[in-house]
Amino acid sequence: QAKSGGKGRITVLDQQARAEARNKLRLVTELRDAIDSRDITLLYQPIFSTASRTPVAVEALARWDHPERGPISPAVFVPLAEESGLIGGLGLLVLDETCRQLAEWDRLTGVAAPPRANVNVSALQLDGNLPDQVAAALQRHQLHPSRISIEITESALMKDPASAQRVLQQLRDLGVELAIDDFGTGYSSLAYLRHLPVDCLKVDRSFVAELSAGHGEIASAVIALARSLNLCTVAEGVETAEQADELGRLGATYLQGFTLAEPMTGGHAAAWFAIHGETAQ
Ligand code: C2E
Ligand code: MG
Ligand code: MG
Ligand code: MG
Repeated sequence: QAKSGGKGRITVLDQQARAEARNKLRLVTELRDAIDSRDITLLYQPIFSTASRTPVAVEALARWDHPERGPISPAVFVPLAEESGLIGGLGLLVLDETCRQLAEWDRLTGVAAPPRANVNVSALQLDGNLPDQVAAALQRHQLHPSRISIEITESALMKDPASAQRVLQQLRDLGVELAIDDFGTGYSSLAYLRHLPVDCLKVDRSFVAELSAGHGEIASAVIALARSLNLCTVAEGVETAEQADELGRLGATYLQGFTLAEPMTGGHAAAWFAIHGETAQ
């Protein structure tokens, strides 16, 4: 196959590979500029109490609207930031901007500000500096630590469990809440879970989607496990009213998904919480 292509074919592939590398390099440069000029913005998706269906928190979700390429998903630019050494700066931006936004919502009168904001943290941010960075962001915007919840994916925790446990404990000592994101997809040992100082498990949306095909076994097991460990659960990716009802029956503490509310800008969220947030404390 390779031989029949001859030398010319290899050159074409070679050129393609080089063009891709150049492309990626340019994207990394542009991402660095976007982080430096705070062109990475955040959307906020409400999270609801299952029992009262009132919003109790928001999750901050990073967005990059590229001037030529249009919106680039965080599923693309977060890994790019991780491999190019930009994740530290991106993480600081997300922390600071979330705290700034919470403080701004607090200052607006007539708006019931979201009680809490969840911030996603990459595996590479999970080192001894993170607790200080979180403390500094809270301090800068004069927020109580209970206003922030840190979401860490299960797979990030499993990269270096001993070190992760130390960092989580320091975060916990600060007074921020901790949640394990995408739970059920990361092959963590269930015994190990008992030793992690976390508050909440986020049931991965793949298990929520399975509910609609009549397969609630995993969602049900994760929720039961969390309850027996005294952890709360957030079911993510709730797309239908039927899924929400079923998750209520299974005992999920909180619900998040497009059928309840989509991610929205900080400005829109202020207006949204003015309407929906009155009964949330
Ligand atoms: P995640 O933390 O699990 O966030 C939930 C994702 O599910 C978000 O995608 C959200 O928009 C999406 N989602 C919410 N409700 C529904 C629904 O009903 N159906 C479906 N199909 N999807 C729903 P998004 O914003 O594209 O983010 C993707 C992932 O990128 C996040 O997954 C998170 O792992 C990562 N990410 C986003 N922002 C940040 C950030 O600031 N820092 C880090 N380290 N990672 C981030
Ligand atoms: Mg998350
Ligand atoms: Mg998640
Ligand atoms: Mg997820």
